[in-house]
Amino acid sequence: MKDAILGFGAMRLPLVDENNPESIDMEEFTKMVDYYMEQGFNYFDTSYAYHNEKSEGAIKKVLVDRYPRESYQIANKIPTWLLQKEEDNDKLVDIMLERLGIEYFDVLLIHNINQALLPKAENAKSFEYIKKVKEEGKALKIGISFHEKAELFEEILEKYSEVIDVALIQLNYMDWNDQRIQSKKIHELCVKYNIEIQVMEPIKGGTLVNVVDSVKEQFNDYSDTSIAEWALRFAGSQENVTVVLSGMSSLEQMKENCETFRNFEKITKEDHKFLMKMAREIKKTLAIDCSFCNYCLKDCEAGIQIPDVFNLYNSEKLYHLQSNVDLYNTCARVYAPASACTECGNCLELCTQQLDIPNLLKDVAKLFGI
Ligand code: SF4
Ligand code: SF4
Repeated sequence: MKDAILGFGAMRLPLVDENNPESIDMEEFTKMVDYYMEQGFNYFDTSYAYHNEKSEGAIKKVLVDRYPRESYQIANKIPTWLLQKEEDNDKLVDIMLERLGIEYFDVLLIHNINQALLPKAENAKSFEYIKKVKEEGKALKIGISFHEKAELFEEILEKYSEVIDVALIQLNYMDWNDQRIQSKKIHELCVKYNIEIQVMEPIKGGTLVNVVDSVKEQFNDYSDTSIAEWALRFAGSQENVTVVLSGMSSLEQMKENCETFRNFEKITKEDHKFLMKMAREIKKTLAIDCSFCNYCLKDCEAGIQIPDVFNLYNSEKLYHLQSNVDLYNTCARVYAPASACTECGNCLELCTQQLDIPNLLKDVAKLFGI
């Protein structure tokens, strides 16, 4: 396979209002798309759900309405959690095509397959459905995005490897040997079944960039390469990886990431060893291993800003700052405090990191006192 390319993930687009995921900053987004295309990249990844269902429409305005269809590729994902019956596949895919203003997808995935959502996809016959969509030419490649352990992934490949061209998986140096995420084992299965890999979360929602000073120093001592570049290069160096998605939120990030992939250099064995060491160091500093993907926000009946309060909890555990307490109190007042969790469990099946969210929220409530 060819060297991996940088994919533009449209789940963390620039915002006008930080607290409103629908307020996409179209001016900044346009600059980013134009720069990205000018640099010779052309792969866009979105989903029905991103930015409260506004991501596809933004891509239509900035990309589809302004560039010829053959000049870019678009991947989109069927929202598995909305599938009640077989006909829902078609309804959702029609909406996705219409929102984007295109006739076909370059890649169509069944979104967020895990233990809880796999039965929904199977009951709605989504695997058979995407196969049909490909035969009809409405998708050039098909597959799944996956958020679970390797054991389930293997079961899925045993049943559906004929259908799956592409798997979008979480792969980064911190999760490579992680017992919950198991990136390495899942990667090995993709290679075994000859499945094309697209990578999500190469910097783990920013976790691999926002590291503590002691970790930064070790990176600086090792080489001049930036911390973000290490994460992208690790992901792009693995066998079968064709696209590394980065959910970029500013032109500055976009420029840095394009630079990494324009002169892409695979990591060496020594680099790999160093990054495994850094993974262990970073892990020690994180109280809650959240990737800030926001999936859990879709169905929280208490309205808790779960990733935000986890972020503040991690920061407070490390730094003990009054600003963390102030921000938490504002978040609790405007939305809801961690203690408002009803333990309904809705978030559990959505969490991409398989976190025990209700119990972790108890720790957050205890630390901040509400
Ligand atoms: S268990 Fe708590 S945090 Fe999770 S969705 Fe229910 S109320 Fe929200
Ligand atoms: S708690 Fe889970 S679903 Fe929610 S943002 Fe963190 S990783 Fe994503």
